[in-house]
Amino acid sequence: MIEKYREFPKEITILKTILRRFSLDLQRKTEFENRLSRKLAGYKGEKELDYHLSQFDHSKFKILHDLRIPHNNTHFQIDSLLISNTFMLSIDSKNYAGILDINTEFNYLIQTLNGNEKVYQDPILQTRIQASQLKSFLIKNQFSPPPIEFLVSVSNSQAMIRNPDNNMEVSRRVCKTPAVSFKIQSFNDKYQKEFLSTKESKKIVKLLLKSHEPYVPDISTMNLPMEHIKKGVQCPECAHIGMRRIHGSWVCNQCGYLSKNAHIATLKDYFIIFGPAITSRQFCDFLNISSIHQAKRMLSTMDLESHGSKKGKVYIPSKDYELWN
Ligand SMILES: [Zn+2]
Repeated sequence: MIEKYREFPKEITILKTILRRFSLDLQRKTEFENRLSRKLAGYKGEKELDYHLSQFDHSKFKILHDLRIPHNNTHFQIDSLLISNTFMLSIDSKNYAGILDINTEFNYLIQTLNGNEKVYQDPILQTRIQASQLKSFLIKNQFSPPPIEFLVSVSNSQAMIRNPDNNMEVSRRVCKTPAVSFKIQSFNDKYQKEFLSTKESKKIVKLLLKSHEPYVPDISTMNLPMEHIKKGVQCPECAHIGMRRIHGSWVCNQCGYLSKNAHIATLKDYFIIFGPAITSRQFCDFLNISSIHQAKRMLSTMDLESHGSKKGKVYIPSKDYELWN
């Protein structure tokens, strides 16, 4: 039974919004396109894992995707967690392409792709650390955890996993995503003794769901090209940026499309790129509105809450505002 589905990564939404509004600097644009394609590939790998987990008989398991749990002043993340009454299994999804040589003695992975070598952290070690953080989190919350196993799922069909040292851990812990269900079965066969009652495993699920803190990217650390963000209302028809406000409607300079509410999506873009707060001045500036009164009127009709008074008044999305959807 799936207890928690995967959330769409906010970083992808931010990068897509930025790329839609990029002006000039082509080199920086390419850098952001590359960042976006890496994030999309990672997300695709996770969704493939979800698909394979949904295809095998998981009636004995409670499955939670995409967990981010605060613990010891930091957070640990688990791509997919399976809980049965006899064991738990943490799965990490990797989307590396090329030849992957895993060295477990010194804990690194070498990726060889198009003749280039790149070194990454040992994914087995990473997943082992996540599993031990989960264990310590459960103990701290007065649970006696069952054995916690861990697995690395490599989703890229272009990947060739190699184990130069013939290390048993690599063959036990790393597999291609379509083979995940067979790995789960072998762990399942290994653990026969019941550690958790159904009531206890439900309690663990409840604790994890309650503790989960969705990742909200810190925009200030994303090195975003603020100086290259094109301002203006975007046409919903042809994507041109720079609609004009005429008699209560937005008119596209390029295709002539008329819209009553194109400012709503543009404000959302602003919140996603600059953070969820705006003054009426900033609204005028970003949407190219000349009248501050008109701006205030428009702001008051949207799903926003206002704080402060007069010039310091700031509008933020209300509880029901769907910023990330
Ligand atoms: Zn247009």
